[in-house]
Formats: sequence, C-alpha cells, structure tokens
Amino acid sequence: MDCDYVATGETAAAVKEDAFAHAAVAHAAILKSMSQDQLAELTRAVEANIRSA
Ligand SMILES: [Zn+2]
Repeated sequence: MDCDYVATGETAAAVKEDAFAHAAVAHAAILKSMSQDQLAELTRAVEANIRSA
C-alpha cells in the first residue's frame, strides 16, 4: 500500500492496531476492495515491518 503513515505503539500488537486503525480511516475504499487473501497478505506485511523495525 502506497502510504507514508508511520504506525506507533508501545508493543508490536499496538503498532499493528494503530496501522489498521489508520488504514480503516484513510484507506477504507482500498480495504473494502481487497479479498480475504489480500488482507491476510497485508497483515503479514505489516507484521514483517514491525519485526524489522
Ligand atoms: Zn495511509
């Protein structure tokens, strides 16, 4: 997803929550158009980013 938003949080779970809360607001149309598989892949990508941060 082309976005420069930086999710923040005390824990990895909180960062993930923040990222998806942002996406739900700013990218609602994109999320709505994504399949379950695409959403699962996005979740994995977000988790990978958190781990490498
Ligand atoms: Zn965004």
